Amino acid sequence: MVIELKHVKKIYDKNGIEVVKDFNLTIQDKEFIVFVGPSGCGKSTTLRMIAGLEDITAGTISFDGKVINDLLPGERNIGMVFQSYALYPNMSVYKNMEFPLKIAKVPVDERKKRIEEAAEILGLTEYLERKPKNLSGGQRQRVAVGREIVRDCNLFLFDEPLSNLDAKLRVQMRTELSNLHRRLQKTFIYVTHDQIEAMTMASRIVIMYNGVVQQVGAPKEVYDWPENMFVAGFIGTPAMNFIKGIVNEDHTFVSGDLTLNIPDDKYETLVKNDYVGKEVVLGIRPENIDDNVKANINVCPITVENPELLGFEYNLIFKVNDAQVISRINATNIVKPGETVNLHFDLEKAHFFDVETTRRIR
Ligand code: ADP
Repeated sequence: MVIELKHVKKIYDKNGIEVVKDFNLTIQDKEFIVFVGPSGCGKSTTLRMIAGLEDITAGTISFDGKVINDLLPGERNIGMVFQSYALYPNMSVYKNMEFPLKIAKVPVDERKKRIEEAAEILGLTEYLERKPKNLSGGQRQRVAVGREIVRDCNLFLFDEPLSNLDAKLRVQMRTELSNLHRRLQKTFIYVTHDQIEAMTMASRIVIMYNGVVQQVGAPKEVYDWPENMFVAGFIGTPAMNFIKGIVNEDHTFVSGDLTLNIPDDKYETLVKNDYVGKEVVLGIRPENIDDNVKANINVCPITVENPELLGFEYNLIFKVNDAQVISRINATNIVKPGETVNLHFDLEKAHFFDVETTRRIR
């Protein structure tokens, strides 16, 4: 199903604040779309407007070209899985999954067929006669998903469905949800504040902040080409480093003691946009400050304040012009606090941002 949101806006009555501002997006059939952003940015509200659980203050939402603003939730034929999935405690897994089908007056034989199929997909076949209290958290979450997929909807909405699960189970469920999406071949819209969930499952990510869509794109696209400093800092852990400095006529970027040569294409872009002699923000990811000793440019001696050993790799923490910067390198050699190491700043993969607008200079 193709879902289109046009100039969608939401104001809750009380305070008049626009919690969703001019939201525009076309979601193609069978996409796995993830809305991601910090708490309170308007993700759930947008999802709930799509579900019909909240009124739309302005704009239109359409399904396959038909405006559905005024349809009741039950008339939209959507499957929904929430963080708190209330299963009926006295009913077996089978009965929990059967319930929506009973309501929809699906014949008994057909119900059985669909439940067995969903149970098979979700690995619940051997648990069909159990009560929810005798299931693990992950299994309960699967029953909640099963209860929706038996209904044969074209659109599935998920609102932070993994938030109540422990870290290990969340990792496992990410793969299960990706597999489920591939198997069902239906449109998924998924809300989370966890950028790793967004990066690992989405076909496209919608990054929101303060009720405004900041960027829409495939995971790799938003990671490699963030439109602004919010997106750059939100996607990726440890976060992208931001270093303020001056662009000079000799093709250098200078911040305190650090002087870096700017690659030609990037320098031309800065010239074209009139940034020479001005302050900009250099955005460089931790993995792009590496220990590649063969590099013949932008290798600088750096005094490491705190080397955090993560097993396979180090996060080397140091300061540039009072700003904290992190370099991520393989842990092949021991690095001690206070030690000076040569680090290579790979500016080919870095970005420059405008100090005021925070937009990527392009
Ligand atoms: P997110 O899902 O990104 O955490 P929400 O969509 O839940 O954000 O909330 C967006 C903003 O709208 C928040 O500031 C929240 O406090 C406010 N909000 C959410 N629901 C209501 C409501 N029923 N009435 C008034 N304000 C609400």
